Amino acid sequence: MAFEISLAGKTAIITGSNSGIGLGIAWELARAGADIVLNSFTDNTDDHALAAEMAKSAGVKVQYIQADMSKGDQCRHLIAQAGRCDILINNAGIQHVAPIPDFPVEKWDAIIAINMSSAFHTTAAALPMMRAAGWGRVINIASAHGLTASPFKSAYIAAKHGVVGLTKTTALETAQEPITANAICPGYVLTPIVEKQIPDTMKEYNMSREEVIEKVMLTRQPSKQFATVEQMGGTATFLCSDAAAQITGTTISVDGGWTAL
Ligand code: NAD
Repeated sequence: MAFEISLAGKTAIITGSNSGIGLGIAWELARAGADIVLNSFTDNTDDHALAAEMAKSAGVKVQYIQADMSKGDQCRHLIAQAGRCDILINNAGIQHVAPIPDFPVEKWDAIIAINMSSAFHTTAAALPMMRAAGWGRVINIASAHGLTASPFKSAYIAAKHGVVGLTKTTALETAQEPITANAICPGYVLTPIVEKQIPDTMKEYNMSREEVIEKVMLTRQPSKQFATVEQMGGTATFLCSDAAAQITGTTISVDGGWTAL
């Protein structure tokens, strides 16, 4: 059987998708024919322009819905407002880098809420829609830091390990239905979230920008290359295909060999 992917007639909701990996995944799913719901906490002209550009370029329906993924009720409202959710990509995330004794409590709370609890709320709201439609895909964007740890990223690593656990439970609760739940675990991808942590890491390690990239970030990535947002999009699209119908409750690393070390 030829390996084909058409997502025509499906609606994909991607949290935190006005930049970086979420946007890359949205583009790939749109090119595969899915209607798209873009999201972030902002409500700028640019956000809506992005939706219009994607709709025009890919020939699918694209809407932008503002919702703050740090708030459980807004996570659930995003799904309700979209009205349909065949593919849920839990991608919104933030980072903060500091040693545990100095880690600001409000940063801990925000990272746990946005990077982990939001996936619980959106999944809770989306599963009934997937069950009604008789098909569904939950794809959680975890991280190599959902499987391994590094110093100074306590909240992020706790949240991403939590997301991997939530993925497994989601898979078990849907195992006998045409619904799958998996986590993609990227290594370093050069997006705004990575750009923003370079200055703090420079401070923690007393290094230059180039040294942080080479000696801290890519030192863990044996390929010595950043992964790309297009590769994340391709992996998510594969997980939506029939070929992946029996892949559930697992993690797929796209990390240049990081977790093989
Ligand atoms: P990014 O900063 O480009 O994207 C983060 C997205 O989340 C943005 O669209 C932002 O607007 C959105 N967001 C932030 N706070 C939000 C909130 N309160 N409500 C709604 N949206 C919110 O970074 P990215 O690298 O594209 O990160 C996307 C995901 O990939 C994150 O979960 C991140 O942890 C994960 N990840 C990234 C890397 C990497 O190297 N870039 C590696 C592993 C995992």
